[in-house]
Amino acid sequence: MGVFMLRWRTFLCDLLYNQALGEVEYYTYAIEFQKTGLPLVHMGLGIKRGSQLTCGKNIDAVISAEMPDPIKEPVLFDLVKHLMIHDPCNTSTPKRCHRPDPNDPTRKRCRFFFPKHYSETTIIDEGEIQ
Ligand SMILES: [Zn+2]
Repeated sequence: MGVFMLRWRTFLCDLLYNQALGEVEYYTYAIEFQKTGLPLVHMGLGIKRGSQLTCGKNIDAVISAEMPDPIKEPVLFDLVKHLMIHDPCNTSTPKRCHRPDPNDPTRKRCRFFFPKHYSETTIIDEGEIQ
């Protein structure tokens, strides 16, 4: 919990005071603990109009995600692989994430919409920024 809280406070400071995503108008958050005992933060964040990151290039400059190096950090790599990644998800084998497809109730689809297309950069669809 100590390392988590240290990282969380640093992240919150980057958002609120360093304005990493723009000038914050409001925020709220809740910390919960998963069955594995790992903490998880749910956060709502409002960025002031005119202060938002409006293009993928600007977003990619402050937000990224990558897998740990499996050679240098094998334990962390395995944790991320097993706890943070959605398994290959096709509808030929039953999975807990499968739900009836509303467009075709005879078929099932992943409720998280996997598989998703991989993209090297962030793409903002028309109308996403409000
Ligand atoms: Zn799925």
